[in-house]
Amino acid sequence: MTRANRLILILCGACLFLAPPLVACASRTASLILYDGTVIAMTAEGEIYTAIAVAGDRILALGTDEEILALAGPETHVVDLAGRTVLPGFIDGHAHLLRDCGRVGLSVAQAQELALSYGVTSAAEMVVEPGDVERYVALAQAGRIRARTHLFLAYNGLCGNVYGPWYKAYSPLVEIAPRLSIAGVKVFVERSTCGEERPKISFGDLLRPLLSPAGAAWYGDDHPLFSEDDLAAIVREAADAGFPVAMHAIGDAAVETALYALRLAGERAAALRPLVLHNLFVRDDLLPLYDEVGATPVVEPVNACFVDTYGGMLPLEYADVVRRWGDLAASTTHLAAGSDWPWGAPGSLSPVFRLANLVSATNESPSCASWEPCAPLSPHQVVSAWRALRMMTADAAYALHEEDELGTLAAGKLADLVVLSENPLTTPVAELAQLHVLMTLVDGRVEWQDASVVPAG
Ligand SMILES: [Zn+2]
Repeated sequence: MTRANRLILILCGACLFLAPPLVACASRTASLILYDGTVIAMTAEGEIYTAIAVAGDRILALGTDEEILALAGPETHVVDLAGRTVLPGFIDGHAHLLRDCGRVGLSVAQAQELALSYGVTSAAEMVVEPGDVERYVALAQAGRIRARTHLFLAYNGLCGNVYGPWYKAYSPLVEIAPRLSIAGVKVFVERSTCGEERPKISFGDLLRPLLSPAGAAWYGDDHPLFSEDDLAAIVREAADAGFPVAMHAIGDAAVETALYALRLAGERAAALRPLVLHNLFVRDDLLPLYDEVGATPVVEPVNACFVDTYGGMLPLEYADVVRRWGDLAASTTHLAAGSDWPWGAPGSLSPVFRLANLVSATNESPSCASWEPCAPLSPHQVVSAWRALRMMTADAAYALHEEDELGTLAAGKLADLVVLSENPLTTPVAELAQLHVLMTLVDGRVEWQDASVVPAG
């Protein structure tokens, strides 16, 4: 049997697993076994197995083929991976799947399908406005939210309009419907794209004089929407109610305001793991502050190509103040990645493209090719494939307070998995963007599989 045929048969076997799992986690009998593969736990570099067993919605065990196949019973669906790679399902630390899918002509159902086809099993929903929660609960109760969704309730809007502490009507960090949870409060520290306006983002006194005329035309003279004291009060109020904050900060002035406000906000806010989103422009003096205030930066590597569309915004010698993924990785304990989809570059939702972008100084992923010009990433700013994958699995789970359940593969954790065509840790950098997702599982159930590999029906 050829390797391809073997995989087709195997994956068709897995189709049967779309039915609800019957085997309880407490049982030592697996409901699903994936073996003969490369199972990357994402816990510690080098912790790699060949097989994984699932019981119901949870991981039962990881080990050798022999160890794991011994857990099979008469009802177990056994899948030969034929050398394919299993990773924890990808977690998108910054997306707008529910709110903004219509912007690119997709329904919620289509956006969910697209995310799952990219191996995304969890996503932060970064702007939830008053009235949205109930709508999303109805969707979740109807089974239409298939990728776990973590809601960030908006303190203010992208034009700077203030909603206030309406989020207090909800309980933080709890699941409120199937695969739907309340994750935190979103605060725009600066204005973003507002209606038909172009982004108006401030960069601080250091960077503003460096802008080219083309760059300056895109960036207004806005200042952050809050003083450090006022923002600290907002963060503290959220923390007192148990909510982490996620702060939109693209320019260095907003990053500075966010980080110093967090320092003022105190230990309770730090313990709740605040997030700083975008971080496109970061000065040297700000890099140590993230860890100091307990903040996790969330970056959007593919989306960041849009910076280049502003054309010669900064002289080349200042390229290292932009897209500092490598510097952020070196100076922070936790660094997460997101897509900001559907804002930004087409294809930004794909973690595989994001991976290719993070590890490549050439920045030639297919998604970026459709945005021009897309300048090369500074060679100093690439990160290792291991770190890039952590940014989309373990560290993203940490950012969402889900590291006990998601983001790494270990017995007892939720069985959110993705099967990739090759091992991204050994794939040559130039070929990373060609990796494809074969199967995506949430709660131990197949939510998506590659139609080209498995014939319909
Ligand atoms: Zn966003």
